[in-house]
Amino acid sequence: MSTDARAERTPQSVLVTGGAGFIGSAFVRHALAASPETRVVTLDALTYAGLRANLDGLAHADRHTFVEGDIRDTALVARLLREHDVDTLVHFAAESHVDRSIDGPQAFVETNVLGTQSLLDAARAAWTGRDDVRFHHVSTDEVYGDLPPDAAPFTEDTPYAPSSPYAASKAGSDHLVRAAFRTHGLPVTLSNCSNNYGPRQYPEKLIPVAITRALAGEPIPVYGDGRQRRDWLHVDDHCAAVWRVLEAGQPGRTYNVGGDAEVENRVLLADLCETLDRLAPDRGPVPHAALLTPVPDRPGHDRRYAIDSRRLQTELGWAPSVSLAQGLEATVRWYLANDSWLAAVADERRQRDGVEA
Ligand code: NAD
Repeated sequence: MSTDARAERTPQSVLVTGGAGFIGSAFVRHALAASPETRVVTLDALTYAGLRANLDGLAHADRHTFVEGDIRDTALVARLLREHDVDTLVHFAAESHVDRSIDGPQAFVETNVLGTQSLLDAARAAWTGRDDVRFHHVSTDEVYGDLPPDAAPFTEDTPYAPSSPYAASKAGSDHLVRAAFRTHGLPVTLSNCSNNYGPRQYPEKLIPVAITRALAGEPIPVYGDGRQRRDWLHVDDHCAAVWRVLEAGQPGRTYNVGGDAEVENRVLLADLCETLDRLAPDRGPVPHAALLTPVPDRPGHDRRYAIDSRRLQTELGWAPSVSLAQGLEATVRWYLANDSWLAAVADERRQRDGVEA
């Protein structure tokens, strides 16, 4: 930990955008548990990726309020900031799936770019002249683009070079947040995190797709040669990192967040299949790895991401606490114990699309 005697703060009233999504809902739980004095308001539009059920069973629910609404509704956000006397806005809401951004980039620009600017406008209007407040923007390591095989991991100074429309829209939002600090003096912080995994991740991302397909005995898609390298971080470690930045991060500063757990997709999937062989031998074929099925690679697919999180570790004293092996096993156990959550997802898909999920 740095010897820098930076002021610590405890968020009192937090507005979490996208709090019904995968990471946002974990963060709501983290915030309510982290401090007994903290109140949390979740603002979520409940898109296909947002589930009201993700916030079921909250401990300390008396300190939590859920509001269904869109981050682009500046008047609504302004009212929530005022009525709940919000001192901390944590911005998770986004269109977050790369494949969807390839099929339809427009929604990514609307939510990730325009939505972020709308939030910045509301925060700036509500917080004029205040320096006890924070706007924290949650971003991704994908803004840094494709890392050559032998290159050092991304630092906060790595130039942006996004490949997918998703990454480009997140890069655009990062720039707008920094501009609000530099030009308007809004007290912002940013974090750029590697791939998350854990409970309640929508089954369109690599790990929950693999688990749900394996349990159903269906083919598990493997993009291209499966040798894309990613860094993985358990969602609870990500939430702890964001909370730490809220407590002690320096306004205007960006913090990379990563698990120091870089692995090829094909190796990750093989490990996951072995875990399923042990924990669910009666569901799907054993070995589950027999289900791994190559599919054409994603266009523009980055080969490698790796992230250097030393700034967060040395300046703010954060470190990942869950190893990838432990975290994967816990995640498989969670999906096995939560059939009802998967049923809620399937039900929501049926209602939305009017088709079998
Ligand atoms: P997610 O898709 O599971 O959840 C996104 C949430 O935002 C959903 O609840 C959705 O309903 C809500 N939302 C979408 N558009 C909205 C709008 N216009 N107004 C209000 N709410 C809206 O995403 P996630 O995986 O939890 O990611 C959360 C954030 O973390 C994103 O900003 C993402 O870019 C970032 N991030 C994700 C990862 C990862 O591995 N999942 C890694 C690094 C950064």
